[in-house]
Amino acid sequence: MTTVWDVVVVGGGPAGSAAALRAKQLDPGARVLLLDRDDFPRDKACGDGIAAHGRDELALLGLPDLIADYRPTQRLSVVSPGGVRVSATVARPNHVVPRLVFDARLVEAARARGVEVRRHRVRSLAARDGEVLIDGEVRARTIVAADGAHSTVRRLIGAPPAPDRHTAIAVRGYADMPDSDDAQLIAMQRAGWPAYAWVFPVGDGTANVGFGMLLPKLRATGLPGRQVLHGRLAELLPCLPARDLRAHHLPLSPGRPRPGAGRVLLAGDAAALINPLTGEGIYYALLSGRLAGEAAVTAPTDPLAAYRRGLRGALGRHLRTTDLLARAAQSSGFIDAAIATAARRPEVFDLLVEVGLGAGTVPVPLAWAVISRWLTGSPRRHR
Ligand SMILES: Cc1cc2nc3c(=O)[nH]c(=O)nc-3n(C[C@H](O)[C@H](O)[C@H](O)COP(=O)(O)OP(=O)(O)OC[C@H]3O[C@@H](n4cnc5c(N)ncnc54)[C@H](O)[C@@H]3O)c2cc1C
Repeated sequence: MTTVWDVVVVGGGPAGSAAALRAKQLDPGARVLLLDRDDFPRDKACGDGIAAHGRDELALLGLPDLIADYRPTQRLSVVSPGGVRVSATVARPNHVVPRLVFDARLVEAARARGVEVRRHRVRSLAARDGEVLIDGEVRARTIVAADGAHSTVRRLIGAPPAPDRHTAIAVRGYADMPDSDDAQLIAMQRAGWPAYAWVFPVGDGTANVGFGMLLPKLRATGLPGRQVLHGRLAELLPCLPARDLRAHHLPLSPGRPRPGAGRVLLAGDAAALINPLTGEGIYYALLSGRLAGEAAVTAPTDPLAAYRRGLRGALGRHLRTTDLLARAAQSSGFIDAAIATAARRPEVFDLLVEVGLGAGTVPVPLAWAVISRWLTGSPRRHR
């Protein structure tokens, strides 16, 4: 008799591994299968920045020390499009872990917990008698689709991809950098705004460096994407020549999560869960994957409803906040005002980090302070 898997997870990135890990954590007897088109370790174009909130998720998944051998990064410098700079110590440190390492560790942890991992590229789905049949051979009660920005499963269930105006594209590479340099840098660019370059030191003599912008802005240049992205990166970080350049799309959150359809739950990039202000997606991927795995084993009769509730509770207000801020941030002056406020008030800096890298929201008085500064004054430069 063919096995009927309780959960089949498609994609072994952070969203997929988190789903598989959580399902087994809550129900060790559950039959969980993880399919990925690649073997691990495999590379993934990413800035490799793991926010403190991502580490909280690892702890919830029972893996508090998964990246403990990587150096915590305390310092963060942000330069606004108009040149306002704020450099400060973050309330809780971030980490930079190459995805080649991070994703393979997660998949290995899932395997160690009893998840069956197979190399398989998913191509077709069919719903039948309360199950889903994958490629005519794998039977699942629930599918967690964590197959990334160009999700095949999302397309197969008829959900639309992120529209171009909610899609960014970014290139990343690795450059040599002395270990003593341990501050993360995000340098926003007025040219082609919204756009920014980053330098994220890993702590092993290298730094992840990159540049990203919105897809419509890239198209508007009329030039080949590779030429624009590679060219801007080299121009903005001339002292850090990068190797292993790799680009990828980022489906940015439109403000409301898209949980899936029927017995298929979308998680991570497949659900367009990337912060539109910063491009942060690993924390959302771990969080949404965890919630999807949880729904699959705790509410097997209607996992979608449970997952929708979970997502709404964890991220609903935050996603509406980032959507509103992303709209305001179409004007670079708004971001200048926000960074200028953060440069004067440490609690605002912490709050911006919460919104940009976590699940924070903005209290009305602060929103008003930033808007007033935006409307009334030009930003002062801070060093
Ligand atoms: C250049 C760049 C820089 C970024 N920097 C950061 C950063 O610093 N910090 C941060 O938090 N986020 C960053 N992001 C976003 C982050 O990379 C994503 O949000 C994150 O990878 C989402 O994880 P995921 O598990 O949803 O998808 P992915 O990590 O993309 O994993 C999807 C998996 O699905 C597999 N797959 C795809 N199709 C199939 C199929 N048909 N069948 C089987 N398997 C399949 C793939 O092989 C892959 O392993 C960046 C993104 C880019 C492009």
